Amino acid sequence: MRLTLLPLCGLLAAGCSSPAPQPPSVSCESRCRRASVLANKLLGDRTVREVSRAELEHLDRLYSHAARACGNRPEALRARGKRAELREDIARASHAPDDVRAALLAYAEITRMHPKKKEAAWGLWRRASLALEFDQPRAGFALLTRLAKRYADSDLGRRGVAALAMLSHLRPPDTDAPRGRPRTRPLPHPTIVGRAVDPDRLGIRFAVTHRPRRLLRVRRWSTPAFSRVVSYFARPVRYLHGVLPATGARPARIYIDYPGAQLGRRVPRADAVKGHLVHGLRVANRPPTSVRLVLELSGALRYQIYPLRHPYRVVIDLWKPGLRPAQPQGRPRVRVVALDPGHGGAENGAVGPTGLKEKDVTLAIARHAAEALKKGGIKPVLTRHTDKTVSLEERSAIGLAVDADLFVSIHANADPKGSQQGVETYYLDVGADQYAARLAARENRAAGRAIGAYRLVLADLTTRANTALSRRLAQTIQRDLYQAARVGRPRLPNRGVRKAIFYVLLTSRVPGVLTEVSFISHPRGEAALRQPETLKRLGESIARGILRYAGKKK
Ligand SMILES: [Zn+2]
Repeated sequence: MRLTLLPLCGLLAAGCSSPAPQPPSVSCESRCRRASVLANKLLGDRTVREVSRAELEHLDRLYSHAARACGNRPEALRARGKRAELREDIARASHAPDDVRAALLAYAEITRMHPKKKEAAWGLWRRASLALEFDQPRAGFALLTRLAKRYADSDLGRRGVAALAMLSHLRPPDTDAPRGRPRTRPLPHPTIVGRAVDPDRLGIRFAVTHRPRRLLRVRRWSTPAFSRVVSYFARPVRYLHGVLPATGARPARIYIDYPGAQLGRRVPRADAVKGHLVHGLRVANRPPTSVRLVLELSGALRYQIYPLRHPYRVVIDLWKPGLRPAQPQGRPRVRVVALDPGHGGAENGAVGPTGLKEKDVTLAIARHAAEALKKGGIKPVLTRHTDKTVSLEERSAIGLAVDADLFVSIHANADPKGSQQGVETYYLDVGADQYAARLAARENRAAGRAIGAYRLVLADLTTRANTALSRRLAQTIQRDLYQAARVGRPRLPNRGVRKAIFYVLLTSRVPGVLTEVSFISHPRGEAALRQPETLKRLGESIARGILRYAGKKK
């Protein structure tokens, strides 16, 4: 949660609810204004990534000066709040330990300097969240405990209590024992480790209603090393989860509760799951108004729970620890490649000026690529063979279900004016730029802001470990694809290899790329894509890039 503090200056009179505000001194006022002006100049339409470090540090100093000059006036609190948010943004952008420390200190200062204000609890909450997010679980749990105790009567205090309950299975062993005492309680689940993404952080809205949120169906995909279980709902629903230890004959279980939900009539109550990680699945109404989903586990695993939208569904991914370790050096083994023709069915994707649809283009190209891969000795698997709608999680699950070594998603680009041309290939990386974020928003069918949040919460070690391989794959594909696309169009721009956040890549867990073979929105781009020989050439060039990546072609 981000508490929106009022603008630093300008709205002082309107925003200040302090009982007897003293008139700000000249120095306080002018220092606030200076910080405010610089903040607007630097970050008005940019993110911290696009601003130099020196400028950011300058802004940080202006906030500090303003806070000090304003003494015990409300402006001091606002300046400290702004500064803490700035430090947090910097920490999120850099992930550098020093920046994380600076952000934690900035929030600590709010709690220390304004102990009677409600923002004191907010400072604690932000610190706890940051500490947990940046791998400092001991500090995170200690802060949550302090928040829950000290601010028991406030919303944030209650949030602290809820967070402690939700995260209890992740709690490091000695944080609830008094300091200095030997550990009395072992970790409840040393081998079942995971986390759930808070849907509120992704900007998902939950309507206030008493009507039950119907669970429409549960789908699952399983391989020996990976399982995915997806619950589909009629409307967004929050969730809680926990791990239950093995007792007697009962195996360890993960449960997910959906408060306010009700089981749809056609959902089977129990299901055997073919796979090595999960061997049973049960779902039941839990009176008065909740649904519980239980997965019976067979051993050590990691898991991640996150929501997707359009339609709303909750995804549980489970995998074996150490699945597919990073191997940036050496020749990767490639036997099976998942080819993912973008869009399909109800989803046209981009549409050209005379009506050519992206979904048809991508399918034709994928078929040609599959043909050429087969000739090269690699088994292709398409995520769809016909013009049908396939969800993002299903696409990556198909790749996982066939144990694909690579995942290649094929798309055609578009821009609103229809003036852009060229070829570009993306790999998944947390440092995507603004343009990439907009493109990702279109391909993901989700708002750009939510993607930023997904970036933070989902970019885990597995995806990070694959970045080097994904980039290499992107480079080899882009090279061949560009050569193929510029036949007859010698001045076609090579837009190169770029980074972005695509759900379909985030959830695929193997090296993967998303390629935008041409701009279908440009009249010449569309005309070219109408030629069967262009589609064949593009498809074959993607296969050639994959074969070169695999060392099967020079
Ligand atoms: Zn697309």
